[in-house]
Amino acid sequence: MAANLARLIDALIRHDGEPPATLTDPYAIVLHENAGYLIPDERRDDVYARLNVLAPDPAALLGADHGALLALARDGGMRPEERVERWREIAEITLEEADGDLLGTLRSLPLTRAKKLLARYPLIGAPGVDRILLFSGIAVVPSIDSNGLRVLERYGVVAKGLAYARAYREACAALAGVFGAHAESLRRAYGVLRRHGKTICRNARPECPRCPVAKTCPSRTVRP
Ligand code: SF4
Repeated sequence: MAANLARLIDALIRHDGEPPATLTDPYAIVLHENAGYLIPDERRDDVYARLNVLAPDPAALLGADHGALLALARDGGMRPEERVERWREIAEITLEEADGDLLGTLRSLPLTRAKKLLARYPLIGAPGVDRILLFSGIAVVPSIDSNGLRVLERYGVVAKGLAYARAYREACAALAGVFGAHAESLRRAYGVLRRHGKTICRNARPECPRCPVAKTCPSRTVRP
């Protein structure tokens, strides 16, 4: 299994290159995650970028004009009013619990308390907590998103049909087994698997004929 995973990551990097750079600041990651709902990455990036200009820090976000925030939130998909409420909640938590400095506060806390603080933010579940810890350099923990997890299930690294939480745990155990405590490799694996799941090994209509790992994939006959 470990050999499968290592071979998969190597083949995807050889074929598609290094994964794109991503955000590393925990406050930015939380806000980016909450920038939209069920929208393409490019649109989420755009809403986040404009929100960052409108309100570059938690205090500015809390004091921002409601109408301006709502207009921006409409570009982030359905239920824009809830989105604005979440943005304000993010600003409030960051100001109240971290004095505006989430990264510095997370660095100063024991890991269990850092996790609890991150889990208070809207739309940040256990996988999101792991991702923030890994990408912000707070802790070396494996993480994978739903796109990457689908790839590992189809490639036979994780059994199919498991409940999401169990599948996530098994995927993380496999990643830790291959990459250990090497943070950069874990971040790289996250990005490579996510990209493959979003572009080729999609949930519907996976493009097996043009997949670079089709020859060794036990699910290569997957069809929509
Ligand atoms: S061959 Fe198909 S199912 Fe297997 S990893 Fe590639 S796209 Fe996914």
